[in-house]
Amino acid sequence: MNTVLDSLLNIFFPSRCPLCGSNSDRARYNPICTSCWDSMGKYSGPVCGICGIPTVSSFTTVCGSCIKSRPPFSGMLFYGAYEGALKKSIHLLKFSGVRRLSKPLGLLLSELPVPEADGIIPVPLHPERLRQREFNQTALIARNLSQKLKIPLALNALMKIKETSPQTGIPRTERLRNVKNAYSASPEKVSGRDLLLIDDVITTGATVSECSRILMKAGAKKVTIIALARSMPKQLS
Ligand SMILES: [Zn+2]
Ligand SMILES: [Zn+2]
Repeated sequence: MNTVLDSLLNIFFPSRCPLCGSNSDRARYNPICTSCWDSMGKYSGPVCGICGIPTVSSFTTVCGSCIKSRPPFSGMLFYGAYEGALKKSIHLLKFSGVRRLSKPLGLLLSELPVPEADGIIPVPLHPERLRQREFNQTALIARNLSQKLKIPLALNALMKIKETSPQTGIPRTERLRNVKNAYSASPEKVSGRDLLLIDDVITTGATVSECSRILMKAGAKKVTIIALARSMPKQLS
C-alpha cells in the first residue's frame, strides 16, 4: 500500500531499495521496494502435511520420513523458498542488522494459515551469541507476529543452554547430534499450552525438531512450526 506520506517522504528523503538499488517507494515502513517485495512468492506447491517438506507428488500427504518417524511437532508452515528477495531480506535483517525489516517479515508470516495458539516462541540464541549479535532476528519477527495475531510472546520459555557449532554444511544426522540437549524449556511457561515455534529459515529441520522435543518434554500440548523460508529439496529446485 502506498500513501501520500510515503510519496512525500520519498521526494524529500529518497531511500534506495537494498535489493535492487532503485528508489524505494515505501521506505517509511519497508526499505524494500514494492516490486522486489512482490517478487517474494508464497510457496504453493504440494508439501508433507506434517513436516512441511515440499513433495514431488500432490498425492502424497505425509512424506516417507514422517511415516517412518513422526516428528515432535504437529505441523510446519513456511512462507516461501529460501531464495531471491526473501533470502536477501533475511540476510539483511540477520547479518546487516536492518532491523526494521522484522516488521514486514513478521507480517508475511501472518498471511499464513496460522492455527490458534496460546503462545509464540522464537527459536532462541545462546546468550553469548545474543551478546555478540545484539539482537535475535527471529525474536524480532516473532514479536511482530505476536502483535499482529494478538497471541502472547513467550520469551524465555525456551532457552539455548549449550553453544553449538554452525549448522551450515553438515548433514542432517550430524545436525541433530549437534543441537541435541542444547535447549531447555520452562515447564510453568509451556505446560498444557498450544505453541507456535518461530524460525527464520528451515534447512533440515534439526533445530526446530529438537526445540519441539524439549517443549513437548516440558509438557507442551502441541507445537506448530512457523518459518519464513525453507530450503527446497534438490529434486525440486
Ligand atoms: Zn527493489
Ligand atoms: Zn514429512
